[in-house]
Amino acid sequence: MPSVTTEPTHLPLPLESDWLDWVGARGEQQLALARSLVEGLRSDPPREPLEVLRVWNEAQTALSNAASVGSLFSEVHPDAAVRERAEAVAQQVQKLDTDLGLDTQLYAVLAGVDASGLDADASRVLERTLRDFRRSGVDQDDATRDRLRELSERAVLLSQEFSKNIREDVRSIRLTPDRLDGMPQDWVDAHPVDDEGLVTVTTDYPDVVPFRTFARDARARRDLVTEFLTIAWPANDRVLQELFAVRREHAALLGYASWADYDAEVKMIGSGKAIGEFIDRITELSTASAERDKAVLLERLRQDRTEADEIDGADVSYYAELVRKEQLAVDAQQVRTYFAFEAVRQGLLDVTGRLFGLEWSPVPREDARTWHEEVATYDVSFQGERIGRIHLDLHPREGKYKHAAQFDLARGVAGTQLVEGVLVCNFNRGLMEHDEVVTLFHEFGHLVHHVLAGRTDWVRFSGVATEWDFVEAPSQMLEEWAWDADVLATFARNAAGETIPAELVRAMRRADDFGKGYDARTQMFYAALSYDFHVNQSDDLTARLRELMGRYSVFPYLAGTHMQCHFGHLDGYSSAYYTYMWSLVIAKDMFSAFDRDDLFDPEVAGAYRDKVLAQGGRRDAADLVEDFLGRPYTFDAYAAWLAE
Ligand SMILES: [Zn+2]
Repeated sequence: MPSVTTEPTHLPLPLESDWLDWVGARGEQQLALARSLVEGLRSDPPREPLEVLRVWNEAQTALSNAASVGSLFSEVHPDAAVRERAEAVAQQVQKLDTDLGLDTQLYAVLAGVDASGLDADASRVLERTLRDFRRSGVDQDDATRDRLRELSERAVLLSQEFSKNIREDVRSIRLTPDRLDGMPQDWVDAHPVDDEGLVTVTTDYPDVVPFRTFARDARARRDLVTEFLTIAWPANDRVLQELFAVRREHAALLGYASWADYDAEVKMIGSGKAIGEFIDRITELSTASAERDKAVLLERLRQDRTEADEIDGADVSYYAELVRKEQLAVDAQQVRTYFAFEAVRQGLLDVTGRLFGLEWSPVPREDARTWHEEVATYDVSFQGERIGRIHLDLHPREGKYKHAAQFDLARGVAGTQLVEGVLVCNFNRGLMEHDEVVTLFHEFGHLVHHVLAGRTDWVRFSGVATEWDFVEAPSQMLEEWAWDADVLATFARNAAGETIPAELVRAMRRADDFGKGYDARTQMFYAALSYDFHVNQSDDLTARLRELMGRYSVFPYLAGTHMQCHFGHLDGYSSAYYTYMWSLVIAKDMFSAFDRDDLFDPEVAGAYRDKVLAQGGRRDAADLVEDFLGRPYTFDAYAAWLAE
């Protein structure tokens, strides 16, 4: 590392009028720095092994700085021109990253490093770096590398076509207005009757989600759900077959038995075979709970249709909603009166501050100079020392990212740069729904991880730099604090100053828990699709889907549907759709170390902070979890939760 005389400070952001130039300059500068450092490694590498890794670390830090500016400001800046400039930076980062991955000269320098004198962290940096290079195919012969590049380019086109077919195939049914019975009035008002006296209901989410949940007309629900599960068929059947073939060949060229093996190698789960075993295990664990709640649905269905002996996807959402309303009554209107935004935000900071021993000090807007006046900035201190800065950008506005996520502004590197993270969400400004409160805690779990792991020497391990199937575990675990009556009592008060009643919180939890078993089975059906299609070749994807649905879902196949064609995650997640459930298993296990009567126990929380979060990617996630729990992770806590 360069010698440092002062502690690194936060990244100074520009004055309002200078953003466009600043984003471009920051991107260019950091990309140029990365290029020149790499050029130095190629042409005149240092003799000391550690020095080679240090230069590589500086190059990777610069590349990550450019990537952060590109990805954050292309999603959040209020000025479209700034967003476009940031987008261009992101594309350049992507290109440089791909070029470096296939750079044989650079690979030769790094592969030539003698690892014998390196400490554990440096050895791991080297080992992970060489693994990335090999996975991109840099050590293959020219013909193989050319073919790999061709396959990657083809895969990009296929995935674009797959998404486009889904996006553009909007289907619909048309109904007489009397068949809208049960739909909320604001929804009915937004769906006027046409010249022929009919109302059009489409397969877009704002239609299909409320319709399958509230519409009383069973035939209409069935027709719409059938259309929904047939989106992009047959076009995407062919696209999927080719996409799977491309991935099969890609994995085979690199010496893997299947795409799932290739993909799982860098994840906590480790191998394709382990994915199949995990799916079977969760299926077994969730069956009793799934059957129990399914029986409740079926019993309620029989009040309307006495002869029914099965319930399928056309009826599940509707009857689950009825059961929640009739048997687990929670009044959402009453719940939200306890969650005023400002109090929730402060409550979250107080709760996490107390839990992790952190101090969040507000930075005045004129000092922080952020991209929007609604962004709240805080300096983070631990034991009196400033360790990072966070920015909370929590309300919707035009042109802003539509989901909830944590972004990096800077990844922390000890002695070099201060960690800065950003939460980007779209919450109500007044009263919040409880599920928004849960989302806020979830996303804040990623942010705390990013900050606490921001003081390592190596950018490779900084922040949320852990295996992809572990990433969600810390944030899924922090959700538990948003469901605890004692925790909520510290900040959830209505306008009259009354604290949210513990009984109401328990009722909310019961309603939320209903259906968790059959949801797990449905998730395992999706996970099985994602895994099986990447391991076994089948000429008829729908036939294979029916088989897998029969084995993993508790609900039967809906005749005439082809849901694989619009299951977008077959592209993005490829064979790894299991990941969300996998990290939930780990989250439940880690949470079992806490005393449910005292979620603030400083000893447990401190151990979790130091042994799991602050480690970032320095060790395998399984080792971090074992270090915290004092034993290897198990499925017990997850199984107990399902049985509750
Ligand atoms: Zn998350």
